Amino acid sequence: MYEKIIKGDLGADVKIVDLRTDTISRPTTEMREAMYGAEVGDDVYGEDPTVTELERRSAELLGKDDAIFVVSGTMANLIAMMAHCSHRGSEIIAGDKSHTFRLEQGGASQLAGIQTSTIKTKDDGTFDLDELRNMIRKNPDIHEPITSLILVENTHNLCGGRVVPLEWLEKVNGIAAEHGIPIHMDGARMMNAAVHLKVTPRRIVRDVDSVCFCLSKGLGCPIGSILAGSADFITKARRIRKVLGGGWRQAGIIAAAGLVALETMIDRLKIDHENAYKIAKAISDLNSRILHVDLDKVQTNIIMLKYTHPTKTAGDFLRRLSEVKASDPVKVSVRVMGRGFIRIVTYWELDNESIDLAIKKIIYVIREFEKLTSKL
Ligand SMILES: *Cc1c(COP(=O)(O)O)cnc(C)c1O
Repeated sequence: MYEKIIKGDLGADVKIVDLRTDTISRPTTEMREAMYGAEVGDDVYGEDPTVTELERRSAELLGKDDAIFVVSGTMANLIAMMAHCSHRGSEIIAGDKSHTFRLEQGGASQLAGIQTSTIKTKDDGTFDLDELRNMIRKNPDIHEPITSLILVENTHNLCGGRVVPLEWLEKVNGIAAEHGIPIHMDGARMMNAAVHLKVTPRRIVRDVDSVCFCLSKGLGCPIGSILAGSADFITKARRIRKVLGGGWRQAGIIAAAGLVALETMIDRLKIDHENAYKIAKAISDLNSRILHVDLDKVQTNIIMLKYTHPTKTAGDFLRRLSEVKASDPVKVSVRVMGRGFIRIVTYWELDNESIDLAIKKIIYVIREFEKLTSKL
């Protein structure tokens, strides 16, 4: 484990438990060693054997024809949207809480001229299928755009890492197939979904045409995402990656970490899920008036907490968690997500001791803030 300890103002060591997100997870020792020894070449010429191997193994793992290694999840989604919507006047149908719609700068419209039409995202990360059916525009009237892609997200980030049901994906596929429309899965954390459902990654993506997942989140790699799909789709994706400036040269240096991740980091995600549940359970057991969690919704490595306090904001709560005093030498970092929501995410570097310290600190601050309400 890599420790994160700093010297506090009081001269004593301060332990930091950083629960903001899993993207901050650092590569494992095994990854660093693999990176050091990686065989490399120019990947734009298709000559980096480590990248090629990572792409081959990823495609196999996902049960798709081919795969491409790209810089980020955002780039993978943008490439997928561009490859599926190659004609002008295309529209994508996506949930209104989807990462692509909310948190990728509107890249589909900004860079690719694609319109996104949204359906309300339900609490479990799905959307209504009748609405989907009604929204599809195929052979449309001259006034209308052409629905060219349906986008699903799994696990669903803004829904708190919820795993989308397999039966729902199958139904979306049924509707898409009726109209000949492809489905892309933004599966940034799809490996967490596979681990939660105890099924293979291949099964999670069976009903979608293309999928991407992040190596740089819970899987611990320093950089990178994989985008997979049909051979024809990946040929298009390779061309689009280049125009977006994503053609990279001796990328085997980082692909080497990806290969280690596929071998060693997927099954262990269950530990992150257990840790997230442990934190959520400790908070839930308090029955606090200010911080609420629905335990049934904590399925993977993300916890969404609803924060309600009459006078102190979620920002105040976050700041207090990261403050240390002689009596509480632990700094806990979390994120405020929208108004009144606090998000916690677990990842491989958080061992039992870190999780227990974080729980202690969170309970301490909840109690302190509750006292403030009773004085009102
Ligand atoms: C993190 C994330 C992305 C974007 O990945 P980056 O590598 O940060 O660009 C896309 N979709 C979802 C659901 C995510 O959680």
